[in-house]
Amino acid sequence: MVRLVILGGPGAGKGTQASQLCEAFALLSISTGDMLRAAIAAQTDFGKQIQTQVQRGELVEDASMIDLIRDRLTQSDIPAGWLLDGYPRTAFQAEELDFLLDSLDQRLNYALFIQVPDAVLLRRSLARARNDDTPDSIQRRIDLFNEATTPLLDYYAMQRRLIRINGDQPSEKVHKEILERLGIRN
Ligand code: AMP
Repeated sequence: MVRLVILGGPGAGKGTQASQLCEAFALLSISTGDMLRAAIAAQTDFGKQIQTQVQRGELVEDASMIDLIRDRLTQSDIPAGWLLDGYPRTAFQAEELDFLLDSLDQRLNYALFIQVPDAVLLRRSLARARNDDTPDSIQRRIDLFNEATTPLLDYYAMQRRLIRINGDQPSEKVHKEILERLGIRN
């Protein structure tokens, strides 16, 4: 049974790799970014509360994110295999995820880090910018990734669960490299 988190800056190709992996291994994809965007589109109370932060590229508070992921992972339809895309993003979220999984008697197998130079992240993100993306909000997401999320690499490396993947290559090659590193060949 495979349980993965996928880490990478904006434009690293997480979404593409996540959907291919989910298809290949019949995993449930859980994207916190998609969940937040859905809440904003539906204009729920939570959606209204986080809208500005998300549009600016700021991180939503850990407490809200932890509640969101706890609710999702404890829903009754959750299959044994899943992949988290966009969560955790801070060391605190990573620790809380481990506590949550312990309480559910589950374990994470690997954290995949799709490594891409900042200049490439910026170029790719500008090229695919959504309406509400501005060069400032994209740069902010990259900076926040470096500040808040890269410490997670040490956290998972210490647990011997980190797999670093070169994301600065065509997506099929990235996918192949992931499969090889997971010990699976197609
Ligand atoms: P993403 O689609 O994963 O890039 O997420 C889009 C935006 O949602 C991010 O720029 C953040 O504002 C917010 N977000 C998504 N996941 C998280 C998280 N784990 N912690 C805090 N904010 C998040």
